[in-house]
Amino acid sequence: MTRIRSAKRVSSFADSVFGEMTRLARLHNAVNLSQGFPDFEAPQAIKDAACAAIQAEQNQYAPPYGTAAFREAIAADFTRRYGVPIDPDEQVTVCCGSTEAMMASIFACIDPGDEVIVFEPFYENYGPDAILAGATPKYVRLREPEWRFDPDELTGAFTNRTRAIVVNSPNNPTGKVFTREDVQLIAGLCQKWDVLAISDEIYERIVFSGHAHVPVASIPGMADRTITTGGLSKTYSVTGWRIGWAISPPALTGGIRKMHDYLTVAAPTPFHDAGVAALSLPDAFYVQLAKDYQSKRDLMMDILSRHGFTAYKPGGAYYVMADVKRFGFSSDSEFAQYLVKEIGVATVPGSSFYIDPAAAPQTVRFCFSKRDETLHEADRRLARLSVTSGDRA
Ligand code: GLN
Repeated sequence: MTRIRSAKRVSSFADSVFGEMTRLARLHNAVNLSQGFPDFEAPQAIKDAACAAIQAEQNQYAPPYGTAAFREAIAADFTRRYGVPIDPDEQVTVCCGSTEAMMASIFACIDPGDEVIVFEPFYENYGPDAILAGATPKYVRLREPEWRFDPDELTGAFTNRTRAIVVNSPNNPTGKVFTREDVQLIAGLCQKWDVLAISDEIYERIVFSGHAHVPVASIPGMADRTITTGGLSKTYSVTGWRIGWAISPPALTGGIRKMHDYLTVAAPTPFHDAGVAALSLPDAFYVQLAKDYQSKRDLMMDILSRHGFTAYKPGGAYYVMADVKRFGFSSDSEFAQYLVKEIGVATVPGSSFYIDPAAAPQTVRFCFSKRDETLHEADRRLARLSVTSGDRA
């Protein structure tokens, strides 16, 4: 066999499902409710700040861990909202998206042979991140309709080999917002077993009425055993800027910074200033953001229920999981293929968020981070599904 071939570490991974569904959406001219990105504008003030930074020749490498002003803004914002003191010099690392922040954190803090607990369904990167670090992911199920976990199952997942647990709330793909009780249980187990929490809180600002975001680091005793990842992408509708961060206990920051430096050197320079502008938007911006997303969530739920889906109402983030068994396809992937090719709506098959697709419920994920017109167009197209599925059911 030739040696000009991919290394074993990548050959077990599938291609990312998000990029593939967006490619299919373009190919079939479908309404793209698959990959999670908005089709509406980012706030003018932050675009102006990015353009001004480019014009002011901020076009060379940024300080590897982020400019002082941006790190200070990230730390101050977290402290103001959640009451957790953060030292920007010792605890904040600006990365190329929270995807990189998560990977740099796992690489920096997990050894081969360790176990990492991951809730399933999971955002697709967590499994490969753990595996690339030589660790074994251990999955704990979130179960529809409310995507609760079984406390006994979670408790039973912790062992002497457990090094970390990955938490993601508000959750992608389910929209579950972990309750204070959930987070406290996780925190108690982390303390009992001396385990690190790596908490992906990228959707922290997209939380609907009746729910509240509880950062893992805000639970007493957790600040020195939690890495919180976040970023600009979802809150400010700039997924293409690739600006995220890790907030870590000082003892772990050096490792994360080394990983980050070797992976990417630094995040794109002009967006550090834009990040400062973003984090100084008034509270009214965030109130409006959550309100707008809640009305999109309600619109999406209404569309899905009218077209025969059993959709599980999310408490946060910008996705809805919907059961598709009744449409009579052999798998959710087949249904998603049919939907993008024949109906003209792109989604993500829910089974791709599970380690064993055959053991997953048959669902698809709809992203509602779209203009109302886009959602209305999806509504019109899905009307054809009701007719065809009527024949099948
Ligand atoms: N976070 C987005 C999603 O879940 C995009 C992910 C990606 O493209 N890797 O759809």
